[in-house]
Amino acid sequence: MSKLSEPHFQNAEAAREWFEAQRWPEGRVCPRCGTVGRSYATKKPGVYRCAEAKCRKDFTVMVGTVMERSHIPLHKWLTGFYLMASSKKGVSAHQLHRTLEIGYEAAWFMAHRIREAMREGGLLPPMGGEGGIVEADETYYGKVEVQRPRRKRLGPPTKGGKSGPAGKRAIVSLVERGGSVRSFHVAVADKATVQKIVTENVSREAELHTDESRLYGGAVSHVASHERVKHSADEYVRYDRRPGGTVRIHTNSAEGFFSIFKRGMKGIYQHCKEKHLHRYLAEYDFRYNHRVKLGFDDLARTRMAVKGAEGKRLTYRQPH
Ligand SMILES: [Zn+2]
Repeated sequence: MSKLSEPHFQNAEAAREWFEAQRWPEGRVCPRCGTVGRSYATKKPGVYRCAEAKCRKDFTVMVGTVMERSHIPLHKWLTGFYLMASSKKGVSAHQLHRTLEIGYEAAWFMAHRIREAMREGGLLPPMGGEGGIVEADETYYGKVEVQRPRRKRLGPPTKGGKSGPAGKRAIVSLVERGGSVRSFHVAVADKATVQKIVTENVSREAELHTDESRLYGGAVSHVASHERVKHSADEYVRYDRRPGGTVRIHTNSAEGFFSIFKRGMKGIYQHCKEKHLHRYLAEYDFRYNHRVKLGFDDLARTRMAVKGAEGKRLTYRQPH
């Protein structure tokens, strides 16, 4: 915890300078009009005025980020970012409330805003380009709050084509072998939904690895090839000898991700409303995509989350 004794985690002024250096490494950019390097400091520390004749507006480093209009001091924000970026399983609003000495509601809002900063935004490149391997798998977590009318015949097909668990929240994740994950909370895990997710996120050159679930049938035509492991026959890794070398066919990366997610959710977040599930997924995706193995330490991961705070705003009226 030595990091947290550094000044930018301890006082608001130092934190503001830290945030400013992160956001404006090459000179201040007016978040109102986008003009670069044409603003000056006002008498109020941290408040700048745009010198552009058409703009002339005041701004701070928080404008246009998830922190906009927050009354929480910036060193507490930075500590919140750091704690959520560095804790493997996440940090509860209750823990933020006690550690940062802010109200519980403020802590709850902060946690959700940091999750929003962690969410990958914009157009993402397709996964598994140049013949890379993408694993796809589904899992179920927590009960659905509003029972959806059940389909006439059966619920979502899963392993071995059997009916999926009724009344549980379905999650589909794609994991690039040795790379990043993208998770989706879906209303129903069915063929059409999975096909759409694969088509929108996976390269046509990719090799798709799944278990024997029928869910992936529709996605097969999108990718270069599709390999399955037969979990029902106790097959977890298959070694496929090819001219270029042996390829391991499995979905262990996706399953590993699900296990981190579920352990964290059970241990830290216990009660997660269904409407917020996608935010928690974004948080776990973020940490997985900036893990140590990919070259990110706690501080680098914190910086990436802070970077993502820009251009995103969340306005909640009430917690829960
Ligand atoms: Zn401006």
